[in-house]
Amino acid sequence: MLQAVKGTRDLLPGTCRKFRHVEQTASQISSLYGFDEIETPILEPAALFLRSLGDTSDIVSKEMYRFTDAGGDDLVLRPEGTAGVARALISEGLAQDLPLKLFYRGPMFRRERPQKGRYRQFYQCGVELLGVDSPAADLEVIACGYHMLQELGLSQNLTLRLNSIGDADSRAQFREALKAYFQAHRDELSQESQDRLERNPLRILDSKDPRDRKLLEQAPRLADSLTPAALEFFKQVQDGLKALKIPVVIDPLLVRGLDYYCHTVFEFTTENLGAQNAVLAGGRYDGLVSDLGGPRVPGVGWAFGTDRLVLLLDELQRDWKSSASFALIPIGERAEQELPSLAQDLRRAGLRVDLSFSGNVGKRMKRADKVGALAAVIFGDNELNADRFQIKALKTGTQSEVPRAQIITELQRLITSP
Ligand code: AMP
Repeated sequence: MLQAVKGTRDLLPGTCRKFRHVEQTASQISSLYGFDEIETPILEPAALFLRSLGDTSDIVSKEMYRFTDAGGDDLVLRPEGTAGVARALISEGLAQDLPLKLFYRGPMFRRERPQKGRYRQFYQCGVELLGVDSPAADLEVIACGYHMLQELGLSQNLTLRLNSIGDADSRAQFREALKAYFQAHRDELSQESQDRLERNPLRILDSKDPRDRKLLEQAPRLADSLTPAALEFFKQVQDGLKALKIPVVIDPLLVRGLDYYCHTVFEFTTENLGAQNAVLAGGRYDGLVSDLGGPRVPGVGWAFGTDRLVLLLDELQRDWKSSASFALIPIGERAEQELPSLAQDLRRAGLRVDLSFSGNVGKRMKRADKVGALAAVIFGDNELNADRFQIKALKTGTQSEVPRAQIITELQRLITSP
């Protein structure tokens, strides 16, 4: 039997509804902050990610869906959204219109080991604020992310972890200090971190291996390598968060896996998702656009995993209400004939109507219950002759008789007071 590809899944209607709710909330809240939606292609040239994410990132070194198409082009199913937005800025000539505030959503692809909350095709929403190099922009995007998570009802379970990885000078200095320290303890490192030591020692800070964690306790601190300018930038972000009353935990080990970040890096984490605890993450990326061959355009943004937010909301037993619907239940030949035009009238009035197409009254009532209909409109020859239809509220069981001309008003009334 044909199955969905490993690590991908069908989002069935119940799940899809939750995804749309989360995406719409994200889109709505980010629009309050002035972000407008952009949609970039899922297929991008491989060079885009090779040049932006860094050879040593997990994504580039082992997770990309990369292939050569029939015309010989080296392509990738996008693993994240920021690089594509930066590419669009360059190829669409948007650098004339700075600052730019963009929101995106859509599927991303990474060949990771699938587990709860981790898929090979997953979905992200994100914002990017391009063209502003002051900490005010960092605050704007973090405040927007926090507002959105609050709007979804999540603020109780979240921690904002923040760090500064400084400017290029800060990082070069830190990389050397870290290299010297770990070289002296090379044999105590995990095999993976011994490789990281050669390629990108900063990545060791991300390690979950207990041997590495132990060594990290005594390791040089990034904070000690920050230049005065980077320290001042970091301070302004922290002061701004305080003024906005956004609680924050400084996490000196937070570095994030991609090369393009600088200064501010942050993550909102939750206790409710086990190992996959990051729900929203981002940072500043001042070098990205110029690394891709564009002008020097600073940027800051975040992305969240829609799959994980939906899981989290399920875990918290969030009630996912679908909009009210109604069932039409015809009895007999004449009623069947009347059915389509009655359904059309109701739908044109903005009411959601479910039809079950066949079966007796009992079977149709069962389906009405199953789809969670608010009420059923029941009508046969008697009702058609009298021009008065039966409306049965399914939660309470109360039944009333309503003139045909008033059905719409009565159903609308039921939505507001069932
Ligand atoms: P990243 O682009 O790695 O910073 O990830 C941003 C967010 O996307 C994470 O915090 C997760 O919520 C989500 N995410 C990343 N990778 C996956 C994945 N393989 N499956 C599901 N969600 C993911």
